Amino acid sequence: MNYSGNDASYKEFQGKDKFRLVGYSEASPINDNKLKAAGKVYLVGAGPGDPELLTLKAYKLLQNAEVVLYDSLISDDILQMIGVKAELIHVGKRANCHIASQSQINQKLVEHAQKGSMVVRLKGGDPFIFGRGGEELQVLSDNQINYEVVPGITAASGCSSYAGIPLTHRDFAQSVRLITAHQKQQETIDWHSLAAEKQTLVFYMGLLRNKVISDSLIKHGLNAKTPVAVIENGTRENQRVLTGRLDQLSELVEENDIQMPSLILVGEVVALSKQLAWFNTTGEVKASTESAMRVLSA
Ligand code: SAH
Repeated sequence: MNYSGNDASYKEFQGKDKFRLVGYSEASPINDNKLKAAGKVYLVGAGPGDPELLTLKAYKLLQNAEVVLYDSLISDDILQMIGVKAELIHVGKRANCHIASQSQINQKLVEHAQKGSMVVRLKGGDPFIFGRGGEELQVLSDNQINYEVVPGITAASGCSSYAGIPLTHRDFAQSVRLITAHQKQQETIDWHSLAAEKQTLVFYMGLLRNKVISDSLIKHGLNAKTPVAVIENGTRENQRVLTGRLDQLSELVEENDIQMPSLILVGEVVALSKQLAWFNTTGEVKASTESAMRVLSA
């Protein structure tokens, strides 16, 4: 892990064993002695990748966990924060490639909690945003297993911040839509309402469906010149931000060989990244950003 900060709190954070949470309630369920006997599952959001975006609560739970079930999206830096005694179980999930099925994951959660373990179910981003967190909790609830949910920074929030793209802006977008391009059933996306102006669209799991996204939005009336961004590995050291126009989305993805995890943003706010980008700014594709700015000022 590379922490660049010089102040004392960073140093303490680096020395995991010395880490103490100031003001952390002794009555917190994390410190509850009854916990071992009962068994409990903590559904924890790990954020989009940068380990410093983890919440303090998540960090402490990772240090104390007996069993951690984690997804593929979890960055190595975060895995290194898990206490050495914990049993690590990779149940990775990526589009079209599942190491464990959802029902196997559910079963493992129930089994370990019933044995009395303190279980952390670690998910990328926020567990309640396209993370199947609700489905896993339903199973725990059905089996009368105690649980808590620790929210995480979702990809929309983390990636847009690190790309210098404010999701809302009084001049350009009054609302934000988070959309999954990967549907359980056949096409249920309301393209008509998504094609309205003055909003920012954030597509999760959209990489393989980028052509459908751009074609459908244009077909339903969104300006083909609307700025788009593809953010690959957002908030991580290898983050890439590529920007262009909606009708260039496929070219952008193919020419730059964009890989997962990637987020697609559509809306006028994207053009602000030229001025506001601050993270890993070398190596970005500035030319296409400039064309997006020309669209806005036209
Ligand atoms: N629960 C997660 C989302 C899981 S769905 C959350 O709240 O963020 C997985 C999708 O999230 C990926 O296909 C990608 O579209 C997006 N994603 C997650 N982390 C990302 C990252 N670091 N950079 C870009 N996209 C990311």
